[in-house]
Amino acid sequence: MKTALVHHPIYEKHDTGPGHPEMPQRYTAVMDALREDERLWSSLTEITPEKASKGVVQAAHTPQHFKMVENAFADGLDRLDMDTTISMESFDASLFAAGGAIAGVDAVMQGEAENAFVVVRPPGHHATAERPMGFCLFNNVAVAAKYAQNKYKEVDRVAVIDWDVHHGNGTQGIFYNEASVFFFSMHQYPWYPGTGSRGETGHGRGLGATMNIPVKAHTSAEEQKRMFEAAIEDIGKNFRPDLVMISAGFDAHLTDPLGQLRLEDDDYVSMTGVIKDWASQVCGGRVVSCLEGGYNLDTLGQTVKSHVRELAVIAEARA
Ligand SMILES: [Zn+2]
Repeated sequence: MKTALVHHPIYEKHDTGPGHPEMPQRYTAVMDALREDERLWSSLTEITPEKASKGVVQAAHTPQHFKMVENAFADGLDRLDMDTTISMESFDASLFAAGGAIAGVDAVMQGEAENAFVVVRPPGHHATAERPMGFCLFNNVAVAAKYAQNKYKEVDRVAVIDWDVHHGNGTQGIFYNEASVFFFSMHQYPWYPGTGSRGETGHGRGLGATMNIPVKAHTSAEEQKRMFEAAIEDIGKNFRPDLVMISAGFDAHLTDPLGQLRLEDDDYVSMTGVIKDWASQVCGGRVVSCLEGGYNLDTLGQTVKSHVRELAVIAEARA
């Protein structure tokens, strides 16, 4: 079984304006790096996603949120919050972005691929149920996790692993009261957006199904990796997912301009390996990884390639 690569040219059309770190070239940098590796590229199953429907998006977002994103550009807005700028094609791109995460879910659930990587933008993990935030319009991973639970009877429980340097506040909020989606975030703290302390562990039925590992700026990669491994082991004791999703931000990289953590490509490979091992023990290796942050254009492509290569090696070895 192969690794699916979900991508769409519209991911380059969401224009955030001059000087914005979440720029269209992030998409091309990643795609170029993946294409450059012929052996890897030929092993991937390419998938072109469709737009997510309004109903599917609204499983994670309020109708008011959907309407705001839908009408913003026509209403003359050029931003949805301080950092979240938009252009004419941003609404379509955001529907294809959520659709990309969904296509990844379909590929692994229907046995077309063992795991999937989605080269998606705009990213999603800061978007809350009620509003766009921090470069994110719709929460791609949250929409896809809800979709997986609603569409596939084999999927009761989903684990979302968020290793972006920023706390995945949007995803956390959407699932804060739910026991069936475990949300784990490891992120620089204190840092944008300010949430993600250890004390945030869920509420009501969801109590215990959220875990935050705050990491101090300049922590060594070794130490951070140990924290990650211990957390996954801990989560695995009480939660058995039917599907694992990764909010794969690469801005905790040593070279990233938007964070002060110290991970390098090999560290992402080993974290990918830890998740893959867990998924192969509990859910047939089903992992859907979606791009979130990662803002150094000189290194992002190589880092993502290391991650995808590790996903693909597993799939190859198990074929
Ligand atoms: Zn980030």
